[in-house]
Amino acid sequence: MAWFSRSKENISPDSQKKDLPDGLWEKCPGCGEIIHKKQLESNLWTCLKCEHHFRIGSEEYIGILLDKGSFKEMHKKMRSPDPLEFEDTKKYKDRLNNTVKALGLYEAVRVGTGKIEGRNVALACMDFQFIGGSMGSVVGEKIARVIDKAVKSKLPLIIISESGGARMMEAAYSLMQLAKTSARLTRLADAGIPYLSVIADPTTGGTTASYAMLGDVNIAEPNALIGFAGPRVIKQTIGRDLPEGFQRSEFLLEKGFIDVISHRKNLRQTINNLLELMT
Ligand SMILES: [Zn+2]
Repeated sequence: MAWFSRSKENISPDSQKKDLPDGLWEKCPGCGEIIHKKQLESNLWTCLKCEHHFRIGSEEYIGILLDKGSFKEMHKKMRSPDPLEFEDTKKYKDRLNNTVKALGLYEAVRVGTGKIEGRNVALACMDFQFIGGSMGSVVGEKIARVIDKAVKSKLPLIIISESGGARMMEAAYSLMQLAKTSARLTRLADAGIPYLSVIADPTTGGTTASYAMLGDVNIAEPNALIGFAGPRVIKQTIGRDLPEGFQRSEFLLEKGFIDVISHRKNLRQTINNLLELMT
């Protein structure tokens, strides 16, 4: 009996965990390759073997795109007042508080100004990990304000989207943000200021139906899921199989929904080249 007990103890998940350094390796969802985190980071969180683009957040995008130390964040601590006092499996207020505590982010978008190769730009960058990158009243308001800043200071605007769409917990208040942000972008266009939309995986729902698709140039990362309703919903509605690669960047480029696909390693250069031509 003693032999069996010892053997079981040695192969238990807990005892194995103690021997493995935690969180140093990532498995690529594209090809299954095991990659060291440092290597992944130096490759801008893209797989060295299959070029799968791992989902990253605002902190990483700001580091990749902007000149070092140039980002000046605006309206950092703006928080939702929970206008509907919404509650599902938990209170929306608690969900927000817990997310803020866990991530150290205050909302699903960060906005501000910065520089790319010395050129001043206005930037908004979403975070999918903040309640699915959902667009509530604060996301809409922060984007509206950074557009105002771009108009006032004549700065080209870049918005990086990664979002599941409108935030359910704010219902109609979320949907109002589609009209608000789209109207603001019209003011930007009227002022003759360029807007580049960078679309990362995934960008769906109300975000696609508003600012993500309104760029003067819409730039997607490779193989990003971009659409309004998800493929499963469409398949059930129309009762037909969908074509291969449906709603992925490459399919959308072919159909003219997006203008450019840029590998993350070339993203800063692509944006810089476009701004060179447009400003
Ligand atoms: Zn891979």
